[in-house]
Amino acid sequence: MNSVELCNQLDDVLPQTQCTKCGYPDCRSYAAAMADEGALPNRCPPGGAEGIKRLSSILMMSGRQLPPHLQLEPECGIERPRPVALIDPKTCIGCTLCIQACPVDAIVGASKQMHVVLTEWCTGCDLCVPPCPVDCISMVSVTENRTGWDAWSAEQAVLSRARYHGREDRLEREEHDNNLRLSKKAEAKLKALNETVGSGDQSVEQAQENERKRTIIAAAIERAKFAAEKNNTK
Ligand code: SF4
Ligand code: SF4
Ligand code: SF4
Repeated sequence: MNSVELCNQLDDVLPQTQCTKCGYPDCRSYAAAMADEGALPNRCPPGGAEGIKRLSSILMMSGRQLPPHLQLEPECGIERPRPVALIDPKTCIGCTLCIQACPVDAIVGASKQMHVVLTEWCTGCDLCVPPCPVDCISMVSVTENRTGWDAWSAEQAVLSRARYHGREDRLEREEHDNNLRLSKKAEAKLKALNETVGSGDQSVEQAQENERKRTIIAAAIERAKFAAEKNNTK
């Protein structure tokens, strides 16, 4: 089995909450670290003890030696009943910071309006809690005493991964559109500046100042175009 196949197999048995509790930016990065860098399979609290078993089994089938009786790494957190986020509508100020933090687009709302969590989409990752400036998000357990994979299904993991990728695609599209918008704005400014210069009615100081502005704007256009092209090739 090559490294990519191993990474795929490990990723497929991770819960896909994208909570970052393992110390990696997302589930896929942790799978890659286990496949390529020797990371141990005991860093995922949402998967819990059952998750450690599933990951260990795949790693050992690939020939990896693991320490016996691996327990969840305490620095990553604890195995717990799965919570979902709940927003207090009386306190929410509609700042949108929680939307920006949610890895699976489980929060809906607009600027200066109350925000709501789609509980079916919420993975219980906790990532929306720290950014809230008015502490109006609480995490509420919804699986009684069921924890880890007893509180989460393979189907939910597949859906969460798709939502995470959908969000990444959306953010890339938004960045691309923004770069294009900035580039067009800068081109319009450059055109206006060229027309002023072309009128020939300017002092030496004005000519120097306009040349300085032209250089800055031309560099901004190049940067925006480069960023837009980079997004296109992803
Ligand atoms: S569910 Fe959280 S802790 Fe587990 S692999 Fe994914 S990001 Fe890491
Ligand atoms: S609503 Fe909060 S806890 Fe739920 S998935 Fe989004 S960021 Fe995570
Ligand atoms: S971060 Fe808090 S205050 Fe801001 S929109 Fe979200 S829930 Fe409301």
